[in-house]
Amino acid sequence: MLRSHTCGELRKEHLNNEVKLSGWVQRIRDKGGLIWIDLRDRYGITQLLLEEGESDQSLIETARSLGREFVIQAEGLVIERESKNPNMATGDIEIKLTALSVLNASKTPPFTIENNTDGGEELRMKYRYLDLRREPLRNNLKLRNRLSIETRKYLDSIDFFEIETPYLIKSTPEGARDFVVPSRMSEGQFYALPQSPQTFKQLLMVAGYDRYYQLVKCFRDEDLRADRQPEFTQIDCEMAFVEQDDVLNTFEGLVRYLFKTVKDIDIPSLPHMTYADAMKLYGSDKPDLRFGMSFVELNDVTKNKGFKIFDEAELVVGINAEGCATYSRKQLDKLTDFVRRPQIGAKGMVYVKCNEDGSFKSSVDKFYNQEDLAAWAEKMNAKAGDLLLVLSGDADAVRKQLNELRLEMGNQLELRNPDVFVPLWVVDFPLLEWDEDSERYHAMHHPFTSPKAEDIGLLDSKPGEVRANAYDLVINGVEIGGGSIRIHDRDLQKLMFKHLGFTDEEAQEQFGFLMNAFEFGAPPHGGIALGFDRLVALFGGQDSIRDFIAFPKNNAGRDVMIDSPSAIDHAQLDELRLKVVKPTEQIS
Ligand code: ASP
Repeated sequence: MLRSHTCGELRKEHLNNEVKLSGWVQRIRDKGGLIWIDLRDRYGITQLLLEEGESDQSLIETARSLGREFVIQAEGLVIERESKNPNMATGDIEIKLTALSVLNASKTPPFTIENNTDGGEELRMKYRYLDLRREPLRNNLKLRNRLSIETRKYLDSIDFFEIETPYLIKSTPEGARDFVVPSRMSEGQFYALPQSPQTFKQLLMVAGYDRYYQLVKCFRDEDLRADRQPEFTQIDCEMAFVEQDDVLNTFEGLVRYLFKTVKDIDIPSLPHMTYADAMKLYGSDKPDLRFGMSFVELNDVTKNKGFKIFDEAELVVGINAEGCATYSRKQLDKLTDFVRRPQIGAKGMVYVKCNEDGSFKSSVDKFYNQEDLAAWAEKMNAKAGDLLLVLSGDADAVRKQLNELRLEMGNQLELRNPDVFVPLWVVDFPLLEWDEDSERYHAMHHPFTSPKAEDIGLLDSKPGEVRANAYDLVINGVEIGGGSIRIHDRDLQKLMFKHLGFTDEEAQEQFGFLMNAFEFGAPPHGGIALGFDRLVALFGGQDSIRDFIAFPKNNAGRDVMIDSPSAIDHAQLDELRLKVVKPTEQIS
């Protein structure tokens, strides 16, 4: 071994040991008589010491020839530091060198390898292997490793099998665009990369592997955002002979186990909230329950007082920002500007200040007297010192707008503490969702999700009202995962495809393999998939998943380090019998 210890290992109990360390030069301080080198590896940093007059002159010369990120090997004696550094695990000791050799030189890195680097995003992506040397990224990958190990441990302990499913498959209809791979052997035909192993895990249930899981890469060709990557990892699971609550309880167990073992946080049992309630109370199917401020509908106390905007609105709804009656004109104007931003789209915002003296001051005093406003305040459980913020309009739109305002107030009042975790299950999602573009219903989850038995009768008359046996795991306003109890009956699956606008032939062509399997003893089954990258980022207290993935893509879906996607040469194209046409010549 080129080392006896790592750079994060040595403590006082190692004093007077002869040790050998290898690593990267983080920093050199040359104070004339004394030279210190900070030596870094994956485990930490250890300080090396050379003394003019004491140390061998050739070592001093080698030390003076070093640059940042040189790879060196150092040998010496562990001694107690004169000035200790309590912020460093190895801060009590340093190594008095007796040998020093350069294992490899390094060019000066294009950005500093420090916790707060001077490198911009793109540069760091281009030299990702240097970025990964930085402690924050190392910690992220360490957390990721821990979570994957603990996930496997937990699922293994309750008899789940990890089974790999193929990456070269046929399209899975999860609603996103597929990445496709041309086939050389089957001319003119393509594989698709899986958006998820959905149909395979269902086939595994038919095969009798009644508890399956896989930490698996999934691929979706969508526009990117901070919490999205074209390839990402899921904890994908499926169980047979279960009902919805069995799946929820099993994965609630996983969630609580992970919080306990990885963060030492005790999570109480997870509340279940229906989709309908989540929309009504929070305007979102992924409510952030770290804080209250739930919606209160005010139609009955606001109508018919001469305020046309409220009179004409389908929904008048507000939130109570506790203790915010002291908000200044400027702060209120800013909130109004916030809800009026085109991304949010509200026309305006009404406020009511509940003054300390029991009086009210509102932006609609012209229409509502003190008694009227007192009725609002009572409905909203407001007390002196609170501020009511009210929006109105078309119900669906206004709920979305108020959700944004609620989250903004949560931010302003620092109620969204990244160290606090509030998970919940959102259940009873609608089965179908109307799509304006294609003017037809789409499966809200995916076409294999079962409708609630009691709602099947509505499929023809009120398809939008049919509820599904579908659920999401939401933590702190982030959708961490989702799943459903599946259809396991061929006829019901056929009916579902019909409602999704497939002809019998289309359904048979695309999903014949699954419907055929349902004729060979398919057990009742259901499952879930958790977004692993998002889960890790959440545990790491960050919104963006990018720095929890070793080699992510940038916003344009490019890997700027290996420069991909890229053109392929003619020989490869010929072999695949593909021809690249310039966009202008593209066949429409
Ligand atoms: N396949 C689904 C997804 O990727 C999850 C599931 O239904 O288990 O979202």
